[in-house]
Amino acid sequence: MERVLLVEDEYAHAELIRRAFNKQADLYELHVASSLAEARRVIQNVRPDVAFVDFYLPDGSGAELLSESEDERAFPVVILTSYGNEQIAVEALKAGALDYVVKSPAVFAEMPSVARRILREWRHIVERQRRRAERELRESEEKFRKILETASEGVMLVDHAGTIKLINRYVEEIFGYERDELLDQPVEVLLPPDVRDVHVTFRQSYQEYPTPHLMGEGRELLGLRRDGTTFPVEVSLAPVVVSGQQMIMCLVIDITVRRQLEEQRLYARTLEIELEKEREIIELRENFTSMLSHEFRTPLTIILSSISILQTYLEKLPREKVSELLDRASNQIHRMVAMLDDVLAVSRGNANRIEFHPESIEVSPFCQRIIQNIELIDQNQHSFEFDASDAPQRFIGDVLLLENCFSNLLSNAAKYSPPRTRITFEVRSANQGEHVLFSVSDQGIGIPPEEQPRIFQPFHRAANARHIQGTGLGLAIVRQYVERHGGRIWFESREGRGTRFNVELPLRLNTMVDGEGGVVPPPPHFSKI
Ligand code: ADP
Repeated sequence: MERVLLVEDEYAHAELIRRAFNKQADLYELHVASSLAEARRVIQNVRPDVAFVDFYLPDGSGAELLSESEDERAFPVVILTSYGNEQIAVEALKAGALDYVVKSPAVFAEMPSVARRILREWRHIVERQRRRAERELRESEEKFRKILETASEGVMLVDHAGTIKLINRYVEEIFGYERDELLDQPVEVLLPPDVRDVHVTFRQSYQEYPTPHLMGEGRELLGLRRDGTTFPVEVSLAPVVVSGQQMIMCLVIDITVRRQLEEQRLYARTLEIELEKEREIIELRENFTSMLSHEFRTPLTIILSSISILQTYLEKLPREKVSELLDRASNQIHRMVAMLDDVLAVSRGNANRIEFHPESIEVSPFCQRIIQNIELIDQNQHSFEFDASDAPQRFIGDVLLLENCFSNLLSNAAKYSPPRTRITFEVRSANQGEHVLFSVSDQGIGIPPEEQPRIFQPFHRAANARHIQGTGLGLAIVRQYVERHGGRIWFESREGRGTRFNVELPLRLNTMVDGEGGVVPPPPHFSKI
């Protein structure tokens, strides 16, 4: 029985059509609606196989039924139109009507055969669509399979029981199995025996809260090949629904090559670091050699020339001249001894091996004494300013070591600044009174940015300072002494504008008194550089 819906508000027309269908009551079941609203109700309840719809209805146009959702209209619609209204029928066809008929008593009588024809056509169309949909599905499955098979990643579908339901070629290749050997096997066959039990637990808890994520992050995951060997893998998981069944999709990659590359990179980096160290040693040696030839040659030349004058003219020279030459030679010898001391000091390397005798030091007298000494040597070429207005009164430190530090920084400031510029020595409390900060600032040549990272290296001298006498040892020693106090040293400098060296010392040394009353050095982490 085919269900026919007739939407027609003209009673006479509807009646004629009804009569025609009644003659074939064994084939058709006719439902008549006289408005759109009624038609919609019939569609809801009866689900017709075909509908004949008048174009003009009391509550709208019959064409409106065509724009209703696909589901509502899974049947063909034939538009009924009056003679001379064919244009409307054409519009209805464009909107999706399968056909139209021009109303006339003869046509009404023929309606059952029109219905038969329309139904045949419609089934044809539906069948064609079904075949096309099937073909498209097959093609897209084929495409999916191709992508799956050529993927450079292993793809595996595992069901709720942990059984392998699908794998691609990559999985076969990396694990060394044939596909059939793996399908319907528990996924644990691909894992080393010692982690299988844990994996079952993991898998079960994953199924409770399945979310996409990388498996075993931070741990090394191993896959087990058919031949019993293992290899590193990376696995990511994602829950998927396949044919209505909840499954887990596992993406697996063999990361053996990546691991090897990482190891190679690490090895290359280690080599690079060693090379860098080697380079530094060579540089150090070169710097040391150039320092030796510059700094030792000058005093030796002076000593040698004094001795040779004495040898040649000893008898003829007045006594004062002799003693002046001897003074000159002995001064140079002192200078060389001082330099040798410096070399020894830096070659000791470890700050903790330096003798260290801390005591309470009064800030102002200590600093002023150092400034006076430097002023004497500087012979009034620079103006020295001292500011300790925000300084603590006292701090604990080794007088000899710190005198050496600040003399070094102040004499560098003078050495690397043009005459008649200002040098400032500032002391103040820092870090809520936990530290005391000493700063020495000058308006001198500055340190070029590219030299700054190496300025504390022994024997290293900046290019813009080479014409000024020096050994490149002072700062290396200062740093060791500052570290010996558990302090830190750093600087800010602009080439051609000036430099400021900062030394921060803990106000109270973090030292302990050992059993013999000696002072135990601060722990290594206490030094900040
Ligand atoms: P030296 O002064 O004997 O060369 P240092 O170790 O005291 O050795 O200093 C190392 C280098 O740091 C110097 O050669 C110089 O290039 C640079 N330097 C140090 N202090 C200053 C400063 N106040 N202004 C400019 N450059 C400086």
